[in-house]
Order: sequence, then C-alpha cells, then structure tokens
Amino acid sequence: MLAEPAAALGLPLRLLAEAEGMSAAQVIPDHVVGDYRDLSTLRSVTEGCQVVTFDHEHVPTEHLRALAADGLAVRPGPDALVHAQDKAVMRAKLGELGIPCPRNTVVASVADVEAFGFPCVLKTTRGGYDGKGVWFVSSAEQCAEPFDSAAASGVALLAEERVDFRRELSALAVRSPSGQAAAYPVVSSTQRDGICHEVIAPAPDLDPDLAGEAQRIALTVARELGVTGVLAVELFETTDGRVLVNELAMRPHNTGHWTQDGAVTSQFENHLRAVLDLPLGAPHPRARWTVMVNILGGPDGVGRLYDGYPHALARDPRLRVHLYGKELRPGRKVGHVNAYGNDLDDCLERARHAAAWFRGDLGNDSE
Ligand code: ADP
Repeated sequence: MLAEPAAALGLPLRLLAEAEGMSAAQVIPDHVVGDYRDLSTLRSVTEGCQVVTFDHEHVPTEHLRALAADGLAVRPGPDALVHAQDKAVMRAKLGELGIPCPRNTVVASVADVEAFGFPCVLKTTRGGYDGKGVWFVSSAEQCAEPFDSAAASGVALLAEERVDFRRELSALAVRSPSGQAAAYPVVSSTQRDGICHEVIAPAPDLDPDLAGEAQRIALTVARELGVTGVLAVELFETTDGRVLVNELAMRPHNTGHWTQDGAVTSQFENHLRAVLDLPLGAPHPRARWTVMVNILGGPDGVGRLYDGYPHALARDPRLRVHLYGKELRPGRKVGHVNAYGNDLDDCLERARHAAAWFRGDLGNDSE
C-alpha cells in the first residue's frame, strides 16, 4: 500500500520480500526474495538506498543497528523501533515518561504471576501479533501454556492487569526526522479473535478531552522515542473514562487504513514523506465519517473476492475496495473496504455489507 503513493510521488521503491508472489512483490517490480533475519541479505538489498523503512517490526534490532552503523538512514531507527518490538522495553519506557499504561511487570515464574495477581493478561514480550502471544489467565494452571510457549521461543513474559475497557481506540501520529509531526483523528477499533475487524473514524461519542489526551500521548511518544514515520498507539478507553496505552506500532497500521480514502493525506503517503524528511500532508478527514472493515477469509476458506466485484461495486458506487492479491485462507486478512459519508449508520451498513459479501457470508438468497 506504500507503492501507490510512491508511484504518485515518483519515488522508486526496492523491496525485500519474504517470498515470491507476496502482496508487495506483486506491485514492486524491484524486489528481492530473502530472509529479513539475515544481515548479509539486508546489506545487499539496501545497497544504494537513500532510506530504509519497514512494514513489520520483526527485523532483528541488532541488524538494524548494524545497518545504521554502516551509515544507512534506518527510519524508524533501532532505538525507537525496539519499543514496538519488545513489550517489556515499551512498558518500562512509557512508565518513565509518565504515560498511562495498565499495571504490569515482567514475570519469570508462575509464582511471580500469583504475586502479581489473577486475573491478568500474559504476553510474550516479542514476536506477538494479531492476538498471538496473548493469554487471559485466572489460575496457576492456565499459566502453563504461556510459559511453555515463551520458553520455546526464548522470549520473556509480561503480566498486565486485565483492563476493564469500554472499547479500543487508536491514535495515529506521523513524525519526520526534523521533528515535524501530525496527528490523525482518534479512531475506535473492534477486534474479533484478536484480529482488527472494523475501524470507525473518528471514534463515535468520544469525549473531546479524551481524544485530545490520546493525540497528545501519540505525539509525546513519537517525540520522546524519536520515531520517524507512522506511529500507531493502540489504547484502551476504560469504563471509568481514562485512556491507557496497550501497544505501539511504528509503521502504517491497520487502524489507519481508513486514511487511504477518508483523509486528505493517507498514512502511507505520510509515512513516505516522513521517512524522506519531506513536509507532511494534512491528516484531516475528507468526510464526517469513514468506516473501514477488513475482509478476512471465512472458516472454510471460501469467499468471492474478485467474483464479488460486480455486486459490491454496483450496489455502492462510493465504496472503496482494497484487495491485497492474497490467497484466501481462514482468518487471513486479504483486503479491506472503506465507506465514507455524513451518516455513520449508512457507512457502517455499506462497509459491513461489502466485506461480508467479499468474504462469502451473504448468499444470493439474502439479497
Ligand atoms: P498483539 O501484539 O497480538 O496485537 P495486544 O497486546 O494488542 O497483542 O493484545 C491483543 C488483544 O488482547 C487486544 O486487542 C485486547 O483486546 C486484548 N488485551 C491486551 N491486553 C489487555 C489487557 N491488559 N487487558 C484487557 N485486554 C487486553
């Protein structure tokens, strides 16, 4: 999705792809297939590049340090990115900055978890995504699986208080190396089975003070951690009216996909502008509401995808569709739709209908 604004701006991209045929490799001709955990691959791919950036945070921190030591502009840099790679490092830093977070501690044994108190949430400090590496535990017995899993992958475990939240919010900011920053409107997101399912921009009925607080948190974290590019701050809106930081991502984020059609400048374009230290574009919404719904493969892996176009596009000429060129697999994100307009219920209905249609949930009978 970075390729689209890169093409518009005439910026040549070179890609390190995990495998031939991956979404990004389909649209970036100048790509190399290789392992992002291999330093020599990273060195050869980045040779001659003006700047290096990422669409996931799993490139080993020490390799990023080596590339930076070679003189390459790595954005975000390893000192910032480590806070999106390692939840324990992130929690410690946010605590230092006085940013509100759930109560937390690193745990080395079940006894540590008992001392912290049940019920709580256990998380692997590294390598988790889409709810993988997160366990809700209420007893010592339930701690066995998280500890086994953490030991198998050689990572530590973090215990967090189980937050009683009203909903999940996301505050997106973008920052350039010279310090210019912009904050997008705060959005609400809903998850299904730990995977982001739907985003509403801006978050409906959000107290303006709380929205301001969430944006301030994002801008403060971006500045204090020296983030370059997009920073997504996932937050809990607690039932007693506070915001607490759940986690950080330093790349264009699923909760910012609405900006492709709903904001003056998309998160992808602003990420490119930021990592190139170009002036940022306006983050303002183009419409009162934008709803983004992800298209996920159904349980039997069957869906319509491209066959869904005639119906989805004819039903809603204002619908914006983004498919990733991925094969359908159960639970896999294969695309998303955006619907924008002045009426939230209408946007919700249009986006949900289209996503359900592509997924194959709606038969012809229901039409
Ligand atoms: P991932 O890195 O897999 O995205 P997260 O830390 O975002 O993991 O957790 C996944 C989901 O688990 C969150 O979206 C939220 O719904 C729930 N969750 C995470 N931490 C807590 C917590 N401390 N209290 C309550 N729910 C939580």
